[in-house]
Amino acid sequence: GLTGRLQNVFSKLRGKGKVSEEDVNEAMREVRLALLEADVNFKVVKEFVAKVKEKSIGHEVMDSFTPGMVIIDIVNKELTDLMGGSQAKLEKSNKPPTVIMMVGLQGAGKTTTSGKLAKLLQKQNSRPLLVAGDIYRPAAIKQLEVLGEQIKAPVFSLGDKISPVEIAKQALQHAKDNGNDYLIVDTAGRLHIDELLMEELSQIHAEIKPDEVLLVVDAMTGQDAVNVANNFNEQLGLTGVVLTKLDGDTRGGAALSVKAVTGCPIKFVSLGEKIDALEPFHPERMASRILGMGDMLSLIEKAQLNIDTDKAKEMERKMRNAEFTFDDFLEQMDQVKKLGPLDQIMDMIPGMGKMKQSKDLKVDDKQMGRIEAIVFSMTKDEKQRPEIMDHKRRKRIAAGSGTNIAEVNRLIKQFDEMRKMMKQFSDMMGPKGPKGKAM
Ligand code: GDP
Ligand code: MG
Repeated sequence: GLTGRLQNVFSKLRGKGKVSEEDVNEAMREVRLALLEADVNFKVVKEFVAKVKEKSIGHEVMDSFTPGMVIIDIVNKELTDLMGGSQAKLEKSNKPPTVIMMVGLQGAGKTTTSGKLAKLLQKQNSRPLLVAGDIYRPAAIKQLEVLGEQIKAPVFSLGDKISPVEIAKQALQHAKDNGNDYLIVDTAGRLHIDELLMEELSQIHAEIKPDEVLLVVDAMTGQDAVNVANNFNEQLGLTGVVLTKLDGDTRGGAALSVKAVTGCPIKFVSLGEKIDALEPFHPERMASRILGMGDMLSLIEKAQLNIDTDKAKEMERKMRNAEFTFDDFLEQMDQVKKLGPLDQIMDMIPGMGKMKQSKDLKVDDKQMGRIEAIVFSMTKDEKQRPEIMDHKRRKRIAAGSGTNIAEVNRLIKQFDEMRKMMKQFSDMMGPKGPKGKAM
C-alpha cells in the first residue's frame, strides 16, 4: 500500500547522513509513483512532488544533520496542506436549527452517515432531528427510523407519498417548534448523477437553505469519488465532504485528492458500519497515518474519552520513550479493549498497522485472548526483561499458556519490532526530531 511504499522511500533517506540532489530526485520519483498507484489525481501528484522537491533541494535541508528527517517533515506538511491544512469544522448557525443536507450517490452511505452524525452531535449535547427525505428507495425511511431508534433521536417522516421538498420544508418547521438545534436531511441518491436527482436536490436546497451541504462519497471508488464531488459541487455548491468506507481496502487516493481538486474540505470520515464509526477529519493526522507514523493523536483522544486520563498519559509517555515492558503491554491491551473493535485500533498504533498486515498474525479479539495467555505465563522477570526468554523458557511459556512455541516466538518477535517502531516514532516526533513537535 501507499504507506508501505512511502516508508521504504523514507527509510532509505533516513539512513543517510548527507542527502544529494540526486537522492532527493530519486526519492521523489518513488513518491510520485506511490501516489499515482494510490489513485491520487495526476495533476495533484505533479504539483505535490514539485512543491516537495522545491523545498527539499535547499541548503537548509542539505546542511541539516538529519536531512532524511527534514524531508519527511516537509512531505508530512505538504500532505497535510493538500488535505486542507487544519480541521474543517461543521458550520453552526446562530439561528437554530443548523440545517445539514446529506447528498450523494446511492450506496455511498448517506443514510447511515446521517445517523452517525446525529449520534456525534448528541454527544455534544445537541438535539438533532433526522429527516427521511429519500422516498424512492424501498425501506430507506425504515432504515433511518431504525437508526433513530437505536440512538434515541427523533426521525421526521411523512411516508413516501409526499414530495421530499415538502417533507424537508415541514421538517424544518417541526425542528423550530420542537427546539431541535440540528436538522439532518437524508436525501435520495441515484446510481449515477442525473438531472432529475440534481433538480430535486436543488429544490430542497432552495426550500431549506442549508448551512451545510455534505457530500457523502465512498472512498473505495478512488478518483471516481473525486469526479462525483466535482459534479455535485458545480451543481449544488458543497460545503464539505464525508468520506465513507475508509475501513475497507482503499488506496487513499480520494482522501488526498478531494480538497485539491474540488476545493471542498473533507469534514468527516467513516471507518465502519457501526453507529459510532464517524470521526471528524484531521488532515494532519491523516498525513501522519499515511506516512505510517500511526494515528497517535486519534488514539490518545479516543483514550481520553474512554479511559481515565492518568493511564492514557502514562501510556503516551511510555510509547514516546519506548520503555514499556510486557506488563505495560498487557495493561495496554486492557485499555485498548475498551476503545473499540481491535482492527480499527491497531491501525492507529505505530508498528501495529504493519503487524496487522502480516498474514500469520491475524489479531482479532479472540487472538487477543491467546496473546494474553502467553503473557500471563511469563514470570515477572521475563515480562520486565523480555531479552532473557531463551528457548527453554519459551517452551515452558507455551505449555503454560496452552499455545505453542511458534506462537510464543512470534509474539516476542513482534513485541521487539513494536518497540523498535515506537523508538523510531519517538525519535521522529520527540524533542530530537525535526521540530521537537509537541503531541
Ligand atoms: P445510501 O444509499 O447513501 O443512503 O447508503 P447507506 O447509508 O444505505 O449505506 C450503504 C451501505 O454501506 C450500508 O450497508 C452501510 O452499512 C455501508 N456503509 C456505510 N458507511 C460505511 C463505512 O464507513 N464502512 C463500511 N464498511 N460500510 C459502510
Ligand atoms: Mg439512503
